[in-house]
Amino acid sequence: MNNQRTDYHVHPDYSIDASPVKIKEYCQRSLELGIREICFTTHVELDPVRQEKDNFVCLNGEKVSVLNFAWLDSYFEEITRAQDEFKHANLKVKAGIEVGYNRGCEEYVEKITSSYPFDYVLGAIHCLDHIAISSQKESPHYFRNKSLAELRRDYFLVLEEAVKTGLFDSIAHVDFYYRYGFAHYGSEIFTIHRGAIEPVFAEMARRGMGLEINTSSRRRGFEEFHPTREVLALAVKAGIKIFTVGSDAHSLKDLGKNIDEALELLKEYKLSNHVFTRRQASSL
Ligand SMILES: [Zn+2]
Ligand SMILES: [Zn+2]
Repeated sequence: MNNQRTDYHVHPDYSIDASPVKIKEYCQRSLELGIREICFTTHVELDPVRQEKDNFVCLNGEKVSVLNFAWLDSYFEEITRAQDEFKHANLKVKAGIEVGYNRGCEEYVEKITSSYPFDYVLGAIHCLDHIAISSQKESPHYFRNKSLAELRRDYFLVLEEAVKTGLFDSIAHVDFYYRYGFAHYGSEIFTIHRGAIEPVFAEMARRGMGLEINTSSRRRGFEEFHPTREVLALAVKAGIKIFTVGSDAHSLKDLGKNIDEALELLKEYKLSNHVFTRRQASSL
């Protein structure tokens, strides 16, 4: 167990909602920040209902369909180049994706993860009822029509489904609903996991899946990370052993943000930070 800095959740310029910062620039910044390993996790959203909104990546400054493999060729080329270039500086560079899970995305995820040598496939819940609860602007459309009990039912059902697809190495920001849900429902949102998340964590532990400590909540005015301490304690209790830390940076200034504190948190719970190589976890 040690304090080697890693950042396992970084959105380079391929993500349509990210700043136009190249993989190489993030790597350079990593050196300045003493980060030893960086994993890029470009967004892959595949909900056919939201096709016109989300299902794109940015390739050479142009929006292209996420289904057009040209972006993946370019992505892997750039990552491979960075791996070579930064090897001598002792920085490891990994290829990942963050899949926004929706029912029906399985086939495509399967296809890209079997066609490209990914190190890390992160699963996330960004949408419920085809509405982005990850968007400040859009999320009220979901929240104002749903009771907290309905949000709880919807979210944990989709989360359980995502886990059971077996497509993901790890789950991103597992209690993400509180980012924008807090403003609508108040502090009760911090307890909706009780009784619902335990069986999901048990399933994740059984499958040897990982859980991410995502520090982005700190930049949204929250004191806790995703997951909160209470949720993290339940993950530990369920037997989850694989944890990664990620800033969810969409711009250079957020790279590595609060990562040291996330590592401290792992230490406090006697947990090891993990890295992934070709989808296999190893502890640092
Ligand atoms: Zn996400
Ligand atoms: Zn992300």
